[in-house]
Amino acid sequence: PEVVGHIAAGEVVERPASVAKELVENSLDAGARRVVVAYEGGGIALVRVRDDGEGISAEDLPHVFVRHATSKIARAEDLARVTTLGFRGEALPSIAAVARVRLVSRTPDAPVASWIEVEGGVVVGRGEEARAPGTEVVVRDLFFNTPARRKFVRSLVAEGAHLLEILERLALSRPDVAFAVYGGDRLAFATPGDGVLLHAYSSVAGAEAAREMIPVEGERGPWRVWGLVGAPSAARKRVRRMYFNVNGRPVRSFAWQRAVLDGYGTRLLREHRPPFVLFVEGPPERIDPNVHPAKWEVRLSEEDEHLLYGLVRDAVSRALARADR
Ligand code: ADP
Ligand code: MG
Repeated sequence: PEVVGHIAAGEVVERPASVAKELVENSLDAGARRVVVAYEGGGIALVRVRDDGEGISAEDLPHVFVRHATSKIARAEDLARVTTLGFRGEALPSIAAVARVRLVSRTPDAPVASWIEVEGGVVVGRGEEARAPGTEVVVRDLFFNTPARRKFVRSLVAEGAHLLEILERLALSRPDVAFAVYGGDRLAFATPGDGVLLHAYSSVAGAEAAREMIPVEGERGPWRVWGLVGAPSAARKRVRRMYFNVNGRPVRSFAWQRAVLDGYGTRLLREHRPPFVLFVEGPPERIDPNVHPAKWEVRLSEEDEHLLYGLVRDAVSRALARADR
């Protein structure tokens, strides 16, 4: 059974960045207004995520490490209308199977916080301590018990860079939440959480890069797109942030990326890639997030894909034409 657990865990926990992503998504699902992340050694040595969300009660604490014991889907029909980022109840059990995890949490009405420690899927300690309401999860020594998987991890520098990119993406997907991210002792970035996308972008990419961003907006049928795209001059820079969100969920879509590039028309050279952060909003029942437990993909009907291609391209094209003048 242990082997089965490890194989399944690999689907969710590929790299340190997957750990950070799952923990931050849990914080966002818990309604956090403030999320603080720290990592060390490329995220292999340590990933820590602290939030001020709704917390977990002492009774529920042991269940969060049980597979499929999600609190987010009450009934099977709910699966068709997932509004939380997580819904499978796989992340914490999978992470705890391949690392040393300490989770401490306090609900607003609890007098104290409760903690639990799990190593390689085994509960090794429980207790109580003083702490403000919210949750902190510390994940240490990732893949300590799965040397085979550890081999897939690239250099610690590469893992750290990937982890940071995922955190940037998540922070930019929620400008209404204040993020602070520390790599080692260094503050990598901190967003104000004031709900203004440009402010979040400026915190992540720098004030100068933010000045090159142009607001985008468009609507077609029940779909809406909004966000920021880089002026053509910004496309020559080395750092390329090309981020899509669908109904608050970060996704990757080659088709929509194509739509953005087509929206630039001849303003871009072939090899240039403009930065953008775009939000697509539409009817949840027409967006299927249930494609892969860890990949950032959603499935739409062919018709909606087509409609969104046109919507994104035209919105980008209009925004750039406005900026040209
Ligand atoms: P899922 O997110 O798919 O429900 P997870 O394994 O990520 O599954 O988390 C399991 C459960 O633990 C969640 O359903 C939630 O009830 C609880 N949980 C995890 N992290 C947090 C957090 N930061 N704040 C509050 N509850 C949490
Ligand atoms: Mg989750």
